[in-house]
Amino acid sequence: MFSKILIANRGEIALRILRACREMGIATVAVHSTADADAMHVRLADEAVCIGPPSSRDSYLNVAAILSAATITGAEAIHPGYGFLSENADFAETVEAHGLTFIGPTARHIRMMGDKITAKTTMQALGVPLVPGSDGALRSVEEARAVASRIGYPVLIKAAAGGGGRGMKVARGEDELEEAWSVARTEARAAFGNDEVYLEKYLDRPRHIELQILADTHGNVVHFGERDCSLQRRHQKLLEEAGSPALTAEARDAIGATATAALAKMGYRNAGTLEFLYQDGQFCFIEMNTRLQVEHPVTEMVCDVDLVREQIRIAAGEPLGYGQSDISFSGHAIECRINAEDPETFAPNPGTITVFHAPGGLGVRMDSAIYAGYRVPPYYDSMIAKLIVHAPTRAEAIARMQRALDECVVDGVKTVIPLHRQILADPQFRKGDYTIHWLERFVDSLKS
Ligand code: ADP
Repeated sequence: MFSKILIANRGEIALRILRACREMGIATVAVHSTADADAMHVRLADEAVCIGPPSSRDSYLNVAAILSAATITGAEAIHPGYGFLSENADFAETVEAHGLTFIGPTARHIRMMGDKITAKTTMQALGVPLVPGSDGALRSVEEARAVASRIGYPVLIKAAAGGGGRGMKVARGEDELEEAWSVARTEARAAFGNDEVYLEKYLDRPRHIELQILADTHGNVVHFGERDCSLQRRHQKLLEEAGSPALTAEARDAIGATATAALAKMGYRNAGTLEFLYQDGQFCFIEMNTRLQVEHPVTEMVCDVDLVREQIRIAAGEPLGYGQSDISFSGHAIECRINAEDPETFAPNPGTITVFHAPGGLGVRMDSAIYAGYRVPPYYDSMIAKLIVHAPTRAEAIARMQRALDECVVDGVKTVIPLHRQILADPQFRKGDYTIHWLERFVDSLKS
């Protein structure tokens, strides 16, 4: 096992990783920008190294500075968390070239899944069902038109290098195709420096259901069931549940068997998430994330597993030590992402947190790095906390989340807590009757 790990991230996820390390008796190295000198992950780590100015590009994405920090502190492995360098294959390769362990998949698999077209063709060849669409990249708008008329409108033009919902445009009919094509390509070029696009059938009422996988380096691959992440705004997840109110145990077992078999054939290692759209009882693969996800705690709560600990054990070469039949699901978990945003306009609202009180009690977990007096910097993601609850049933989990949100006090910045309250009180949400389009409509209905 490693004796020291460098955490190449900030905020709640840096703390989350630090907590796992500490319980495993592993020393931690925090890295931080000058804007994060007072951050909680810096205060709690055994050592901390400043790696640059506030801008992510010069700090949390600064590979040379991060590697120097690892070298001077004698860290043996690097955990990238999510975001920043977590899905950067060159980074994973450079870490290993320096004789350090990257806590994650191989650079080859990161690269393969980072290109959504390669990801889809790879998964298709391994027997994973896809959303109907183009066979790979589109070379011209004429080709897009031909594929769209074959599969039928509406269609979605998506960036091969896409992420964060950027470079994605819907065309409801042939008259909208040319514009969607050129807007998606322009956005993709600007955001990713790569304007390759492909086309998918636009599903009108799917749920976003994703599957958590772990694979060790001894050929063992298991899944920890699904998360329902359908509640999204601008393709950004806001509230997640495990399990999905729409899935039966049989459907979960079936897709789990397909997915684990595919990843075993690929020789995948460490944590990964397969994202699907689920409509009319059909799973359609859309992409794979080769890292820990923001919403991983809901899985941890229902499966009673520490996914970060497992990632570290796998990276150290340990076998999982259990199989699929040892994994069971208990109760229901919900996560609310608490963003420092205006709950109506969703504009980021950085500033100083004057009062902070974290909720507690049975089945309540708060993953956050904020404290009273903490200044939410304007340079990074606006998520400041994740509130997670676990209860025997979905109805009890909803009641528990409502109670926990009532206890939660965050003053000084605006947050989306009032929106979460409204969602949790909504009869349709309470029935579990929602798709990926539900939240946008719900937010619009609150305005009118
Ligand atoms: P990104 O990597 O940018 O997050 P994804 O491919 O994961 O892109 O898609 C993000 C979200 O966009 C999905 O969760 C879903 O809400 C929506 N989406 C993606 N593909 C489709 C599709 N074919 N039909 C309808 N909605 C889609």
